[in-house]
Amino acid sequence: MAGAVACNTSNGIHTGRVLAPVAVRTSMLTAMEAVKNRLRAIIIPVVKLSSGLTLRNREWFRNSVDIFPAASGGHERTASTSRKLTLPGTLATCEAMKEVDCTPLAVEGPVETPVATAAPRNRTVAVDIGGVTIGGDAPIVVQSMTNTDTADIEATVAQVAALAQAGSEIVRITVDRAEAAAAVPHIRDKLVKLGLDVPLVGDFHYIGHTLLADHPACAAALAKYRINPGNVGFGQKRDRQFGKIVETAIRHGKAIRIGANWGSLDQALLTRLMDDNAKAEAPLSAAAVTREAMVQSALLSAHQAEAIGLGRDRIVLSAKVSQVQDLIAVYRMLAARTDHALHLGLTEAGMGSKGVVASSAALGILLQDGIGDTIRISLTPEPGGDRTLEVKVCQELLQTMGFRAFVPIVAACPGCGRTTSTLFQELAKAIQDHIAERMPVWKETCPGVETMQVAVMGCIVNGPGESKHADIGISLPGTGETPAAPVFIDGKKAMTLRGPDIADEFKQIVEDYVARRFGGAGAV
Ligand code: SF4
Repeated sequence: MAGAVACNTSNGIHTGRVLAPVAVRTSMLTAMEAVKNRLRAIIIPVVKLSSGLTLRNREWFRNSVDIFPAASGGHERTASTSRKLTLPGTLATCEAMKEVDCTPLAVEGPVETPVATAAPRNRTVAVDIGGVTIGGDAPIVVQSMTNTDTADIEATVAQVAALAQAGSEIVRITVDRAEAAAAVPHIRDKLVKLGLDVPLVGDFHYIGHTLLADHPACAAALAKYRINPGNVGFGQKRDRQFGKIVETAIRHGKAIRIGANWGSLDQALLTRLMDDNAKAEAPLSAAAVTREAMVQSALLSAHQAEAIGLGRDRIVLSAKVSQVQDLIAVYRMLAARTDHALHLGLTEAGMGSKGVVASSAALGILLQDGIGDTIRISLTPEPGGDRTLEVKVCQELLQTMGFRAFVPIVAACPGCGRTTSTLFQELAKAIQDHIAERMPVWKETCPGVETMQVAVMGCIVNGPGESKHADIGISLPGTGETPAAPVFIDGKKAMTLRGPDIADEFKQIVEDYVARRFGGAGAV
């Protein structure tokens, strides 16, 4: 031990100064615990290090410094994963430590800790969907689905276009009746005329075999057919109807997604598994059998399709449920048993924040496990709400987890009692809107701009620090602070903005930065 702290109780204030090693008896431990608790509860720790470093953070103190008996009988400060660094000349100030001799403050030094990284992606068979690859080495694909009546060609074209322009790389449309099937090739043509070649997926239930047979132009215009093994047909008809859809896909060179769904699970399969389970010596729970039925439903149908002649490189699987933990369990089982490309999605995720949170929690965990080749986040929009929100959430999920980059991220603090004016919220929104507005141009002229990180912070507490971590950041003045906003570029303070035009000036600074770093002429 490098030193010990002797106590000075003059003026009722205890100070501990490193002098020499002093053994502390085990019986003193209880007193030390009391000291620790008093330290935590009463004072904001101010630990002045002789190196000149001052630490003023109660949480830091609570979390990173702990006091426990060392083998020598002394006290050491430690944390779970670090090498110990005993700083000479440590000075602790503490009203509560009147009666106690102190050993040196062994402060933890930094250690190299790896950031969390996702497990390697599960190796799956790549599937081409109208020019977009799902699985294999391809990036995780974002997809979405319309909620228009597909027979309404204009409305469907408009929504597909909006979804594609928002970043949906594949769009699914409902094909539920003859009028919808007849509309599909027209929708395809109109999208092409708009310059949008986003692949379309037809969503078929019950009569998909008939619709595809009766509307070959529809079968040709679609890039993939989505079928639900629980809704293809029943009894002997099921295999025949399933076979017809698969043969159509083979004939047209299309892919199929076999999408099992908790709400329309193949009842014959479920019943058989439940019966078998009832006879087992150690029966599983009904929920476990249902999860197994979901997985088997997808796998058996895939096997059947392959037996008919559809290549494995034409098959995508999904097994959607509406509960987060069940979804994680089902996809882990599925991924462990097959190398088919997997489409992830939480079905019936719900509205607003509930749908976003539930989907992000479930998909985030699976993606971190290396599971999933394409995602859809099924949000129920508010009446008249924006359908493209589901695309945005997919992109933000993938980007915040580090899988893909789509648009520059604006980090903004939540604001608090230090941001009593609306300046901060207004600037954060103005920058976000500006970036969204400029992205179509930047995408063409400034490759890599989507990786840019911008910070808009509300006050001096975290503002300069967070701004330095971003590529470009601004720290606005909080309530009572000098009305000046330092701007940080590439980690260094570049300038200070003042006055009523801070927002416009900062936007221009962002523009200049984008042009300088990512683009050339035409970038601004
Ligand atoms: S940076 Fe400042 S304004 Fe923003 S949340 Fe933190 S203390 Fe509040």
